[in-house]
Amino acid sequence: MAMEMQAPKGTKDMLPQDAYKWHYVENTFRNVAKTYGIREIRTPMFEHTELFLRGVGDTTDIVQKEMYTFKDKGDRSITLKPEGTASAVRAFVENRLFNEAQPTKLYYITPAFRYENVQKGRLRQFHQCGLEVFGSKEPSMDAEVICVAMDTLKELGLKNLSLNINNLGCPDCRPKYNEALKKFLEENYDGLCDTCKSRFEKNPMRILDCKERKCKEITKNAPIILDFMCQECDTHFTKVKEYLDILGVPYTIDPGIVRGLDYYTKTIFEILSSEFTVCGGGRYDKLIEELGGPSMPAVGFGIGIERMIMMLEKEGIEIPNEALIDLYIGARGEEERKYAFKLAHNLRILGVNCEINHMGRSIKAEMKFANKLGALFTTILGEDELKNEKITLKRMSDGETFDVSLNDTEAIKKIVK
Ligand code: ATP
Ligand code: MG
Repeated sequence: MAMEMQAPKGTKDMLPQDAYKWHYVENTFRNVAKTYGIREIRTPMFEHTELFLRGVGDTTDIVQKEMYTFKDKGDRSITLKPEGTASAVRAFVENRLFNEAQPTKLYYITPAFRYENVQKGRLRQFHQCGLEVFGSKEPSMDAEVICVAMDTLKELGLKNLSLNINNLGCPDCRPKYNEALKKFLEENYDGLCDTCKSRFEKNPMRILDCKERKCKEITKNAPIILDFMCQECDTHFTKVKEYLDILGVPYTIDPGIVRGLDYYTKTIFEILSSEFTVCGGGRYDKLIEELGGPSMPAVGFGIGIERMIMMLEKEGIEIPNEALIDLYIGARGEEERKYAFKLAHNLRILGVNCEINHMGRSIKAEMKFANKLGALFTTILGEDELKNEKITLKRMSDGETFDVSLNDTEAIKKIVK
């Protein structure tokens, strides 16, 4: 196949036989979000590049290495969204949702684009279930947001979950930490990768997040941010932990996590499953203001959909398959075929999933096909059935049959649904 006829590297088709997995994950997330009174927001697939430079931060991996940026025909710099938060904040500010009663609780399901080193669990187009809550500075909200993520993953049936949390402090306490960190890193400056060298002055904390082995080795014994917290940040973190304790949600404090985005303040968290980080999130109290809105606190997360599905498969969790076809209606001749066409339509209006023969197959081949489709019931229309206005529904799982009046669609529905 010619190169240009293949999907670009790092992208994947969702094939129809896998659709039920995606529906399961997305519906589970939607349903959990609903129980928390969270409403959906959809934002464009692309934004002005400037939004991400300011919203994600120009010392992050995303901005330094991973953005899909291009000039459109109007010579504007456009970027495919690499994550959902900056867009949600932009929409919140632009549409003046801050004037409404707070908090504003939003969720989204979106593709995200990052020019990554493609490997297992790391794509260039992937998908996220995300949540953003604006307007509340309370520690109970951090805990609630964490719970939405945990509830979703648990509801899916995932077992090996661990929640890691950390406190990143605020613009009052972080500079002190940055100084201490720089002092520590100074001696090993030459051993850092080029990207980290460029981060040293502007955002040394970012170096803790580097994936290069030599940088990881250097930062192993770096000073810990929790030792540098101001009173307010320290108290906030203590309360978040208390709220998690109320619900008995187990967590580990991991001072090593700093997260890949610049905007976080105070609480940050990651949820790991057996093999991957599936969820990342935290509080970002300065971002709304940074993006031109009022000074307003915020907290949110993103969960990778592909990674959730990978974990479900790895843990061998059975995903409920959607019964595709309730009833396959076979037909012997031209007249019967017309009748099947009409019957299927009438049943579909009642919500019954039907299939009929559009391939000119013989009855035998039709029934074989119905079996392949996994049809729950089959019926065959012949001359007698039309004359007597009676059909027989056959349950495929055990072969049991049910006689029913041909025109009684409600009765047919009752049996096959
Ligand atoms: P990492 O440190 O692994 O690069 P990240 O900090 O860049 O992760 P986030 O921006 O927090 O990741 O994204 C939230 C979630 O989205 C991740 O936990 C993961 O499940 C998923 N995710 C991120 N990048 C990718 C990708 N390239 N392919 C597939 N899923 C991804
Ligand atoms: Mg990343």
